Amino acid sequence: MMPEIPEMPETTEKPETTEIQEITDIAKKAADKAPAPFTNLVFIISGPSGAGKGTLCQELLRADKNLALSVSATTRAPRPGERYGREYYFYTQEEFDAARRAEGFLEWAEVHGRCYGTLKKEVEKILASGKDCLLEIDVQGGLRVRQALGRNCVTIFVDVPDNKELIRRIVRRNQENEEEIRSRMATADWERTRKGQYRYVVINNRLRDAVEETRKIIKKAREEYASAIN
Ligand code: 5GP
Repeated sequence: MMPEIPEMPETTEKPETTEIQEITDIAKKAADKAPAPFTNLVFIISGPSGAGKGTLCQELLRADKNLALSVSATTRAPRPGERYGREYYFYTQEEFDAARRAEGFLEWAEVHGRCYGTLKKEVEKILASGKDCLLEIDVQGGLRVRQALGRNCVTIFVDVPDNKELIRRIVRRNQENEEEIRSRMATADWERTRKGQYRYVVINNRLRDAVEETRKIIKKAREEYASAIN
C-alpha cells in the first residue's frame, strides 16, 4: 500500500496566483524572444529606511541598461524634489483604493501608515521590453513577490552596520519629524527579523562597496538563471 502523502502546512501568505501567472507568462514570452544577456529576472531590494536603498538603486540603474526600476504608487506626500512618475506615482487614498479594487497591484502594503504598491503594469512593461526589473519595496512586499515568483526573483536585503548609523542617516535626511523617525526605527527592527528570508544581505557601510557587491550578485544571478534555462 502506498504511504499517505502528508498535507502541506498552510502558509499565512498566499500568492495571488492568477495575477502572478500573468506576470510570469509575460516574463517567459519575453525571455524566449530576447537574446542573452536578457534574463527577465526581478531583483528585490529591501531594508530599513535610511539604509541607502534609493541611492544604491540609482547607481545600479545608471550603469546597467538591462535593468529598469518599477515605479511604485504611494499615498505619502512627495518630498521636496520628488517628481510624479519618477520617484513614485503619488496617489490620493481614493485613487489607491480604486487601483486595488481594479487589481492593479502585484502587491501592496502599508508602511509607516501610508500605502505603497507595485503596479502590475510597470513590471509588465519592463519585462516585456526584455529587461530585468528592479523593485525597491518593503519586506512585506518583497517576501510576497518572492513567494509568488520563485526562481524568477532574487532578494537582496540592504542594511547598515548599526542602529546609530541608521538614526544618523534618517536625521541627516531631515525629512521626517520625531514621531516618523521613531516609527521608521520600529519598522527597521521588525524588518531585520525577516532578513534571514532574503537570499543576499549587503551591508551599506561605504556606498561604492555596496554597489560593487550588489552588481556582482546581479551578474551571478543572471549567469545562474541563464545556465538553468539552457
Ligand atoms: P519611502 O517613503 O521612504 O520612499 O519608502 C518607505 C518604504 O516603502 C521603503 O521601505 C520602500 O522600500 C517601501 N516601498 C516603496 N514602494 C513600495 C511598494 O510598491 N510596495 C511595498 N510593499 N513597499 C514599498
